[in-house]
Amino acid sequence: MPTFAGFVLFKGYSNLKDFDYDLFVIGAGSGGVRACRIAASLGARVAVAEERYFGGTCVNVGCVPKKLFSYAAHYLDDLQDSRGFGWSFDNVSFDWKKLKENKDIEINRLNGIYKSILDKNQVQIFEARARIQGPHEIEVDGKIVTAKYILIAVGGWPWSPEFPGSQHVISSNEVFELEQLPEAITVIGGGYIAVEFASIFSRLGVETTLVYRGEQLLRGFDDEIREFISAEMSHSLNLKLSTDVSEITNKDNVLTVKFKDGDQLECNAVLSATGRRPMTGDLGLDSVNVKTSDTGAILVNDDFQTEEPSIYAVGDVIDRMALTPVALAEGQIVARALFSEQKTSMNYQNIATAVFCHPNIATVGLSESDALGQGHKVDIYTSKFKQLKHTLSGRDEMSMIKLVVDAQTDKLLGLHVVALDAGELVQGFAVAMNCGATKTDLDNTIGIHPTMAEELVTMREKR
Ligand code: NDP
Repeated sequence: MPTFAGFVLFKGYSNLKDFDYDLFVIGAGSGGVRACRIAASLGARVAVAEERYFGGTCVNVGCVPKKLFSYAAHYLDDLQDSRGFGWSFDNVSFDWKKLKENKDIEINRLNGIYKSILDKNQVQIFEARARIQGPHEIEVDGKIVTAKYILIAVGGWPWSPEFPGSQHVISSNEVFELEQLPEAITVIGGGYIAVEFASIFSRLGVETTLVYRGEQLLRGFDDEIREFISAEMSHSLNLKLSTDVSEITNKDNVLTVKFKDGDQLECNAVLSATGRRPMTGDLGLDSVNVKTSDTGAILVNDDFQTEEPSIYAVGDVIDRMALTPVALAEGQIVARALFSEQKTSMNYQNIATAVFCHPNIATVGLSESDALGQGHKVDIYTSKFKQLKHTLSGRDEMSMIKLVVDAQTDKLLGLHVVALDAGELVQGFAVAMNCGATKTDLDNTIGIHPTMAEELVTMREKR
């Protein structure tokens, strides 16, 4: 059998040119579009199928519109804070419709940019659902096309548990389309989306309840950071921990939410942010040797190849780290590996991430408990402080920094920040950690005064 780049040609395809495309990508989100662009720039004949919107979750119902809403929400803090600095103003109001309209204009613009990236790179676009029919065959737009390689990059979809009245909940898809701002909202969940939207709504003046079944928000984050953010957020919203929603009833568009602890409240909307699942249904996976996990995630090896040698998968559909920059990197790695000599592998260590709640959380590396779990002896440095700005703003908001350091090698294992714009700060420290930064390197760095960032290089006392 002839081979190409380690790939064995299958029966019926004696010549590479027998395929309609070198790469057929299913899904034009972050990972899919990146793979298309890189593959096309390397000379591959590429096609993509997208049945919904260009740019995927991130651009349409995720990171980008969420961050725009988060900016909107933060203006209330800025307005309130400015009074301590001598500002005064009357008749302040907020127009949800205006925010939504402007957000839609920006998202439409971004959809166009994503499409034009594909057009400029001569990627054939099918605005239709694609279903795999065989290792090299895809049914799309009423016909069968063939490709040397298939890349599945279809992403995920909000998932919500069923309980009496669960039909009344909205997901993180619909939350961006609310016609009016609810007077009161209940948010279910303790992960990224729940915490971010609870923050947004509470800052927009909505009476917000965040209910999470666990003891502290954001499982997987450092325990002290979780405790700290739970305390901070409870200043601006009604935080119900260690319980869950048992029932929702609707009477004249007023929702009564009953909780397992016997409590109940009324609100106008319930946002369920209880996780997302890979969108692997109705993709034709039965026709090929592609395996999925219990949650539907496509199983791939370190090269993102499924057990069907011609089929690859990246991004949220493989459910490794459901983050846009991770999907971009994975898509790029696959395209380069297939169509060039540039073979790189994905390094999932020290990937910085931020939760855009108020204040933001940003983190890179290991939590204290993960570091201990991996057998490290650790030195811990923590600092909780009020930012200079809040001496005059009067805002009762604290910031926190935590460093997890390997006690034997002095290497920085984890860096965690809860503060305004923490994400902007932590990205640079992720670079340092990827270069193997030690605590001594931080100590030897002169701070920028007066900033919150200088705290990170002036921590001397171990916990
Ligand atoms: P997460 O997995 O982060 O959180 C899901 C939450 O729902 C958890 O608190 C979980 O609780 C809870 N939950 C799960 N099942 C149930 C249930 N049956 N009943 C009650 N609660 C339940 O998912 P999200 O939807 O918030 O976000 C999905 C992913 O998207 C994130 O993991 C992240 O990778 C990405 N994302 C990233 C953002 C960013 O970078 N800023 C922003 C938004 C999303 P428990 O912990 O107890 O299991």
